[in-house]
Amino acid sequence: MLKMIINGEQVEASNGATLDIYNPATNELIDTVPDATKEDVERAIEAANAAQKEWAKLPGWKRAELLGNVVAIARTRVDELGTILCKETGKVIAEAKGEAAEFCDLLQEYIEAYKHLKGTLFENGIEKGMDGNLIMTTHMPLGVSACIVPFNYPILLYCHKISSTLLVGNTAIVKPSEFNPLALIKLTEIFKEAGVPDGVIQIVTGKGAPIGEWLTQSKGIHMINFTGSTATGTKVYESGAKHLAHVALEMGGNDAFIVCKDADIDLAVEEVVAGRITTSGQICIGSKRILVQNDIREEFTKKLVDRFSVLKQGDPIDPTNDIGCLINVAAAEKVQGQIDHTVEQGAKIAIGGTHDGAYYAPTILTDVTRDMDIAKDVEVFGPVAPIIGFDTVDEAIDIANQSMYGLGGAVFSKDIKTALKVANEVVTGSVNINASTLCRSHEMPFGGAKCSGKGREGISSSFEEVTQKKVILLRNVL
Ligand code: NAD
Repeated sequence: MLKMIINGEQVEASNGATLDIYNPATNELIDTVPDATKEDVERAIEAANAAQKEWAKLPGWKRAELLGNVVAIARTRVDELGTILCKETGKVIAEAKGEAAEFCDLLQEYIEAYKHLKGTLFENGIEKGMDGNLIMTTHMPLGVSACIVPFNYPILLYCHKISSTLLVGNTAIVKPSEFNPLALIKLTEIFKEAGVPDGVIQIVTGKGAPIGEWLTQSKGIHMINFTGSTATGTKVYESGAKHLAHVALEMGGNDAFIVCKDADIDLAVEEVVAGRITTSGQICIGSKRILVQNDIREEFTKKLVDRFSVLKQGDPIDPTNDIGCLINVAAAEKVQGQIDHTVEQGAKIAIGGTHDGAYYAPTILTDVTRDMDIAKDVEVFGPVAPIIGFDTVDEAIDIANQSMYGLGGAVFSKDIKTALKVANEVVTGSVNINASTLCRSHEMPFGGAKCSGKGREGISSSFEEVTQKKVILLRNVL
C-alpha cells in the first residue's frame, strides 16, 4: 500500500481507513491509499506552517538547488511514473510517459525562471515629498498553499503548482484526485530523497470533499491553488473567502473551435483529433464545440468522420492504441447521459455515441444547433465533437461567447484579419490561431475568463500568483 507523506513520514490514515485505486482500463485493483482523517489533515497543516518559517529563510539558490535534485532523480523514473499514470488514469502510455518527462522539463524551467525573478526599485524624486527616499518591492511568500489537483493531468498540474510555490518559500500540501493519486505520491517521495526538508511538501490522500474542505476551510492555509471543475472551484472559493486565503482557480471549459470557410480543412481536422482525442477528451482546454462555416460543413464533417473512424481504441498500456478510456465507468455514463440528452434535443450521431465500461467511443454529433445545451454550458469530458454550423464570423463569435465558460478558443482561417477579429472578440483566457486549443506553452499565463478561472498559471505568471508584494521604504538615504 502506498502511503501519504506527512512531515516527511510515510503514514497511514490515523484510523487506518483506505481507498482502493483501480485501473479503469482493466478494472484491476492496482493499490490502496490512506483515506485521511481530519486529524491527519490538521497534522499536515501544522507541519507545513512550522516548516515554512525555515524554508523561507533558506537562500533562494539553495531552494533551487534542492528542487534541481528532484529533477535529476525524477529523470531516472520517467518510465516508472508514466506507467503508473497510464494504469491509474487510462491515458495512453505515450501520453503518460510524456507527461512524466514534462514534469522534469517544466520544474527545470521554473527553476531557471526563478533565478531571474526581479523586484522593483522606484526612481528617486518622481513624487513630491518623497525626495531622498528609496522605495523597493520584493516578493514575499504567502505561507502554506493547498495545491488541489484534478485527475486528468495530475503530474503536469502538480508541477505547475508546486514549482513556483516552493521556489519562492511557501510550503505545499498536495491533495490529488481520489481516483489517481499514485503517481503524485511517488513524485512527492522523491522530494525527501532529494534533500527537501520535512514538511515542505506533503501529500494527503482520500475522498475529495471532506479532505478538500478540511484543507480549504483551515486558517492555517494561506493560499488555495485549485484546478478542477467549476462546481468544486466555486465551493473552494467560498471556503477561502471565509478566512481570506488567496485563491487561484483553474476550472472547466467549453472551448469553441471555429473553422472559417477559408481555413485549411485538413489541418483543422487533424487539430480536432489532437484537441478532442488526447487523454480521451478529458481536457479542460479541449476543443469541445466545433463551429464550422456552413459553406464547408459537409466536407469538413466527412473528413472528420473518416479520421475518427480509423482511431484505434483499447488498453492504454498497448502503444499501438490511439485512445484509451475515461477515468472510470461513472465518467463514461455521465458522457452517455449528455449525448442522449443532445440527441433528444435533435442532434444526430455520425459516429460513436456508445461506451463499453470506461471506454467511450470517439463520437461526432451533427445537426447540433446553438440553442442546445451542449452548445452552451455543458462541459463534455470525453472524446465527443459536436459540429455546429454558422453563416457569418460574427455569428460564430456570438455562439462562442454564449457559454458561461471562457477558458480557451481556436480559430482556423487563412485570413489573418478574420483570425485576429475572432481572437479579439472571443471572451476567453486564450485563443489559438490555426492550432487547437490544446497547444499550450509552459511560459504562457494560462487561465480562464468568466466561470473558467481566477488567476493565471504558467512560468510567466505563477510567481506573481503565489507571492505578495512587500514594499520596503528607506527614508532619507539619498
Ligand atoms: P473535480 O472538481 O471533481 O476535482 C478536482 C479536485 O478537487 C480533486 O482533487 C478532488 O478530490 C477535489 N475536491 C473535490 N471536492 C472538493 C471540495 N469540496 N473541496 C476541495 N476540493 C475538492 O474535478 P475533476 O473531475 O478531477 O477534473 C475535471 C475538471 O477539471 C473539468 O471540469 C476540467 O475542465 C477541469 N480542469 C481545469 C483545468 C484548467 O487548467 N482550467 C485543468 C484540468 C482540469
